[in-house]
Amino acid sequence: MTAGILRESGSEKRVALLPGETASVIKMGLKVLAETGAGEGAFATDAEYLSAGATVVTRKEVITGADLLFTVNPPLADEITLFREGQIIFTVLDPVINRDWLEKARIRRLTVLALDLVPRITRAQSMDILSSMATVAGYKAVLEAASLLPRFFPMFMSAAGTIKPSRVLILGAGVAGLQAIAVARKLGAVVEVFDVRSAVKDEVKSLGGKFIEVEGAKEDAAAGGYAVEQSDDFKRKQQELIQQRAAAADVIIATAQIPGRRAPVLVLKETVARMKPGSVIVDLAASTGGNCELTENGRKVVVSGVTIVGKSDYPAAMSSDASRMFGNNLINLLKIMTDREGNVKPDLSDEIVAGTTAVSDGEYRSPRVKQLLDIKQI
Ligand code: NAD
Repeated sequence: MTAGILRESGSEKRVALLPGETASVIKMGLKVLAETGAGEGAFATDAEYLSAGATVVTRKEVITGADLLFTVNPPLADEITLFREGQIIFTVLDPVINRDWLEKARIRRLTVLALDLVPRITRAQSMDILSSMATVAGYKAVLEAASLLPRFFPMFMSAAGTIKPSRVLILGAGVAGLQAIAVARKLGAVVEVFDVRSAVKDEVKSLGGKFIEVEGAKEDAAAGGYAVEQSDDFKRKQQELIQQRAAAADVIIATAQIPGRRAPVLVLKETVARMKPGSVIVDLAASTGGNCELTENGRKVVVSGVTIVGKSDYPAAMSSDASRMFGNNLINLLKIMTDREGNVKPDLSDEIVAGTTAVSDGEYRSPRVKQLLDIKQI
């Protein structure tokens, strides 16, 4: 079978497979076509793809010549007529945003594997692109905050006197939040952490963070490790405590999200007004509404002297390692679908494949896609 690597468009700098990972795919028995310039944003040249064993061709030749297509973002909607029945597209789907594209792909009888819907089970950990990208985001968020902050992160003892360490408040201890704790601690800050899932308490502590608990959080084992919407009483108690801790913080890294819903608003306007001027909030939940009431998605704003960064494209800003992690996750998923002869056949009886297959043979498949798009039947 032949796999194709597409070049991304717009501000996307990542590529689904770098030359190193391309060589691994070729070893699995696949031929690879790479679009001219596919790796440019991630600092990989066409010559490197060629020496990895790929053939470098035009976009049209990749789309028409490949059985499998690897891409970070779905291809353009007006290209859909170039695709043919049975082709398998591996992409980060974001089904709500790309609902119309997905419907076109279904009608065209393509198979779409949504890399953002890999189930959160232990066997699928090595395939989880969202975790990889959250790791990058958590790391970069702290570095951005440190570079914007007019203070040191670590305690400093010098001839000019002793400088106190910065206080970092982390909201949400999922993959991004845990990475942010680790990096902020390595830089020497004092770290406090809020989460509604008490299961993360030990992990937070082992990374050197202080877990701030609000009594009465609602947890739901059926939510697959994700958080659920909280009661009004809990929200009020949490907000009071966050106000208090935020006023003492130099930096807030906000990562709290609830899948399929608006991100919880945890930092109110009044809270920002109580923060020290010069403080920094990096809101990784910006694309789903933000954890801070004043966050503007994709922008950096300054309110009452507090800089609020609403960025959600950190993985694209670290395109080289983000692409490497992306490619490795993709290969691990590909492996469970590939037979000894190098044929890729998604088998819907496998829990991971069933959860990841958004559409195939003209049908919506993944229960999560159906739930997110509210699809009862076709
Ligand atoms: P996420 O991005 O959905 O949310 C980030 C964090 O925000 C979560 O920890 C969540 O509990 C927290 N949060 C939500 N509402 C909040 C509120 N009101 N106040 C404070 N915090 C709030 O989370 P994620 O990074 O995707 O991780 C969720 C869980 O899934 C983690 O336990 C993670 O380890 C697990 N996970 C498992 C796998 C796997 O087993 N394959 C893969 C990835 C993640």
